[in-house]
Parts: sequence; C-alpha cells; structure tokens
Amino acid sequence: MIMKTKEIQEQRIAIIGAGPGGLTLARILQKHGVKTVVYEREKSPTSRQQGGTLDLHENSGQWALKEAGLFEKFQTLARYEGEDFRLVDKSGKVYLDEVTDKNNGKRPEIDRGILRELLLDSVDSTCIQWGHKLTHAVPLKNGIHELHFENGHVDTVHLVIAADGAFSRIRPLVTDSVPEYTGLSMVELNIKNVATSHPSIAELNGHGTFFAIADHKSIFAQLNGNGNIRVYLSFKVDHNWLDTCEIPFNEPDKAKQQLLQYFNDWDESLKDYIRFADEAILPRRIYMLPIGLKWIHKPGVTLIGDAAHLMSPFAGKGANLAMRDAAELALSIVKHENVDQAVQGYEKKMYVYSSQSAEESDSNLKLCFSDNAAVKWMDLMKQYNDTI
Ligand SMILES: Cc1cc2nc3c(=O)[nH]c(=O)nc-3n(C[C@H](O)[C@H](O)[C@H](O)COP(=O)(O)OP(=O)(O)OC[C@H]3O[C@@H](n4cnc5c(N)ncnc54)[C@H](O)[C@@H]3O)c2cc1C
Repeated sequence: MIMKTKEIQEQRIAIIGAGPGGLTLARILQKHGVKTVVYEREKSPTSRQQGGTLDLHENSGQWALKEAGLFEKFQTLARYEGEDFRLVDKSGKVYLDEVTDKNNGKRPEIDRGILRELLLDSVDSTCIQWGHKLTHAVPLKNGIHELHFENGHVDTVHLVIAADGAFSRIRPLVTDSVPEYTGLSMVELNIKNVATSHPSIAELNGHGTFFAIADHKSIFAQLNGNGNIRVYLSFKVDHNWLDTCEIPFNEPDKAKQQLLQYFNDWDESLKDYIRFADEAILPRRIYMLPIGLKWIHKPGVTLIGDAAHLMSPFAGKGANLAMRDAAELALSIVKHENVDQAVQGYEKKMYVYSSQSAEESDSNLKLCFSDNAAVKWMDLMKQYNDTI
C-alpha cells in the first residue's frame, strides 16, 4: 500500500454524493491514508430505498472492489445465478435462455442496497455528512472551492469531486453540457416475494433477468436478492408523455389497468409482470450526456460517474463505470505527488473508456426500440458471448 506524503494528506478533499462512485472513492483513498469528507443529501443511510440489482463487471466494478479490498466480501454477497438471462418477444417466444455456470460467472449480481452497505461499512463513518445537499460551489483562487449547502453549511476545499449523479451541481463549473432526454421513458414496478406469492412468474422469470421486447416497448424484469422482482416498462415516447398520458401513477391499481392497455396484444403471461405489481409505481425519464463529453481541465475540481458521463442503462455500465472512475482517480491521486496532475491523468484516461461505453449504451438503446428488436438483441448477445 502506498501511504501519501504529508503534503497531500494535508489537502482537504470533498466528495459530493455517497452513491457507488463516491463511496468507492472515499474507501480507496482512505485505504491509502488520504482523508476525505463525503457530503450526501440523503438524511441517513436508510432514508431511501436504493433500488434494484446491478451486475458488476470484471474490468470495472469488480476491479474497483479489489482495489478497495472488498472483493472477497463481495463474493460472499453476490448472486452468480443472477446472471441467468431470458429473451422473448411479445408472443412469449424464447430467443435466448442462458443459464450461468455458477462456478464460472463473469458478471454476478448484487442488490444496490447491499453494495451500498458493503461500501458504507468499509469507510470511516465520521467522514460522511448526511443531510448535506450541495446547492453550489464557488471557485476561489488556486483551485480552492467554497462549497455551499442547503442547510447553511459552508466548507472550503482544495479538491472537490462531483459524484452527485445525473443532475450534478458541480458539473456547471467545468462544462455547459446538460443531460438530454434519450427518447425513452420508464415505469418501474415491484412484485414482492415472487417465490411464494406468484410462483408462475417466479418460474417464467428464472433467477436473473427476463427481457421481453417488441413494438418499440419492453418489459425488463430482474429477480433481486430479497425475493422481489423489479420490473421496468420502457416506452419510446416524447419527453412530455409521462405528464400527458393521464396514467395516475400515484394510484397503483388504476395505473396498472391503464399500463396493461399498452401491452394489450402481448401474451397473458407477460402481462402478469404488471398485474402482480405491489407498492408504488415510479415513472422516470432516461437522460444522457453528450457521448464523448470532455471539458477543459480546471484545477481543484473533477467529476466521476453519472456526473461525468450519464448514459442510458442499456449497456448496464453506469454504476460499473462510476466505481472504475473512483478507483482510477483514487489510484492516480495516491501515485502522484501533485494532486492536479493526478486529476488530469484520471480525466484523460476516463474520457477514453467512458466514451466507448456511452457509444455502446446509445447503440443498444436504439437497437432495443427498433423493429424486430428481439432477433437483433439475440444476435448482439451471441456476438458478445463469443467475445468473452
Ligand atoms: C433504470 C436504471 C437501471 C440501471 N441499471 C444499471 C445496471 O444494471 N448496471 C449499472 O452499472 N448501472 C445501471 N444503471 C446506472 C446506475 O444507476 C448509475 O450509473 C450509477 O448509480 C451512477 O453512480 P454515481 O455514484 O455516479 O451516482 P448516483 O448513484 O446517482 O449517486 C449520486 C449520489 O449523490 C447524491 N446527491 C445528488 N445530488 C446531491 C447534492 N446536490 N448534494 C449532495 N448529494 C447529492 C445522491 O443522493 C446519491 O446518493 C441504471 C440506471 C437506471 C436509471
């Protein structure tokens, strides 16, 4: 382990956001003796449900966990069977039915909440300032920034790292680029305890991901570690559709009836993903930053994760890249004597790999919502499987 020189240890480094990117960064820096403060807008670690499941890839998410010294623990928490994948069209015709070799899985799944706990347990808990929503940052001189929070707190730091996701409050310091709507809106549903409550859908779904695509729509469903299935209905629609479609998303029973009408001519077994949903229904628009976004380097500030390269989820890479960025930046900081050179080295490398992933996400999204998408997705997956 490289321990930092006194000079760098004396720099005040702030990370905005305790998502997968921010926490991985804090952990790896702390492991190398570099102190940070992490500001997170959520009130506590349990104030928000963290969402569904993620598959962590070897060269990004898994590599970052190795650098964080958390890979062995991750392996005990990961679900290797969660890699199973079934692809169908709207009639229920099966195009792919992949069952993973449990001893040789490449992309095991982990629930976001479990991953967050793993990372939170590994960092010095006093470094995280919960309930601190950054409103803006003011550049002073020599790369020093003054950070302002909604609760009135102000901090002055030598380096601020934006890990605050899609609508970063730090990003405007380095670029005018803003996230653009991808043309896709999603409706998120949750079916509880499928094994006992709905065995038919548990069997249809299998242990991993179930993907039904046709007619510029899709049903994407994933079994989570807690026995629930999280379902994402996707629609290729105008930006304002979620406001104008008149689906009462806050009245789940009525909303489900209306959502079913959009899948009227889909197989009955597929419609059960909507019928059996419990709990809240969450509509969301999918945004992306311009592919290959770069900025002119500014001393004392940088971006990681969605703040740097927000992309659609159709390559399953966002969280993986956030963790890779975190590891790349942390290792660059601990290897360089000069923090500014370290940040520039990270930015140069990150632009290359993140733009490749952004291209892939965009091309996958277009393919998914084109004609005969099930056949095209099957061909893409076969090509992909041949290359790993
Ligand atoms: C439907 C869907 C499915 C996805 N599936 C996958 C997948 O399978 N695999 C994958 O790799 N990626 C997936 N992604 C992408 C993934 O969720 C993101 O890329 C990833 O979470 C980005 O991590 P991050 O740490 O950069 O930001 P985030 O996870 O967004 O974390 C940002 C953190 O910053 C905090 N924050 C925000 N603003 C402020 C502020 N002003 N002040 C203080 N704190 C703030 C937030 O509360 C949050 O804790 C998916 C995304 C979506 C929408």
